Amino acid sequence: MDSIPLVHASLGKQELAAVEEVFASDWTAGQGPRGKALEKDLVARYGVGDAVALSSCAAALHLALLALGVEPGDEVIVADYTFPAPAHAARYVGAVPVFADVRPDTGTVDPQAVADLVTSRTVGVIAVDTVGLPADYAELTSITERHGLFLIEDAACAVGATYQGRPAGSLAPVACLSFHGRKGITSGEGGALLTADAALAADARLRSSFGIGSIFDKAQVIGLPIPEFLEIGYNYKLSDIAAAILQVQLGRAEEMLERRRTVAARYAELLKDEDLVTLPHVPGDRTHAWQSYLVALDPAVDRAGVAADLRARGIGCGHGTWASHLQPVYETDQSCPVSADLFRRQLAIPMHAELTESHAERVVDALRDALQAHADNEGGAA
Ligand SMILES: *Cc1c(COP(=O)(O)O)cnc(C)c1O
Repeated sequence: MDSIPLVHASLGKQELAAVEEVFASDWTAGQGPRGKALEKDLVARYGVGDAVALSSCAAALHLALLALGVEPGDEVIVADYTFPAPAHAARYVGAVPVFADVRPDTGTVDPQAVADLVTSRTVGVIAVDTVGLPADYAELTSITERHGLFLIEDAACAVGATYQGRPAGSLAPVACLSFHGRKGITSGEGGALLTADAALAADARLRSSFGIGSIFDKAQVIGLPIPEFLEIGYNYKLSDIAAAILQVQLGRAEEMLERRRTVAARYAELLKDEDLVTLPHVPGDRTHAWQSYLVALDPAVDRAGVAADLRARGIGCGHGTWASHLQPVYETDQSCPVSADLFRRQLAIPMHAELTESHAERVVDALRDALQAHADNEGGAA
């Protein structure tokens, strides 16, 4: 039987045709016609003032912190249970990441934990839409507004999710998207910064391009204008090749999310009576983008044993995401017990837009067998 991978990017003929057009054009690098068209599409989709196409979400987070004026020694409160890009971004600018614990039911940052961590050195908060589920932006916004802090939405995994009727990516004054191969829409690598703040977007755009304006734009001007370097910027541009792929992917976003939703619903249906797992909880005021499907295993279950059994049957799986504060690089003595517990117990099972309901059934059959075999107080030997 075919194996069922944990993740798979849904890229095909339409994306190839778009790439062929770029090959036939005179511009493949960043900030060209395709990149600008993608930025327009993002502005239209999100109803925000500006969108900056970038090489990654990590680049977007870095540029956001620079544009917001974060300085060495400043404290930035970050959601703990996540791919640790937010804490890395704080460290890129010499700031101190302060780790906020998460809600046990959603894995998203706990607003009370954020409020408790605010000090006189805090400058802002980076919330995360955990594996595609938006955080509590109403509560977070009231905390950040009360203390005069910035709020960034890391919506890396959340293209297509909503919160109180609004799209993830528009839930904070600055939002960062990822188009990495494991996210809902992808160009292999890529990202974007979304904001209503025109000055912030202009700053990010300039720094994404070595601190000079668009070379493509300058080349359209008659005469010989020589662009000037105004900042020590970076090269964080998204290539026009990637932008062309993303224009197609954006157009397919709803269709692909619908397929992920069908798989999630099937998993929930098939696993609803399984006592050894806790299924993802989606509060009624938001929808999930299902970047990953994470189940929490009962503490009595040996997760590594379950994973080995699934892989032996050709079924991809992984741990959930990371408890950031436990990563050696940060050298913190903070503790985030909820995040640490999810990090120990969660298991990612296959989730992508090419899965069928019969794949979901095979995954669940294998998972049930593995759970029985590795639950030490459940009679064990299956
Ligand atoms: C994947 C991910 C990132 C990193 O995205 P890149 O585009 O690979 O830089 C950042 N934040 C979160 C929450 C992620 O899941």
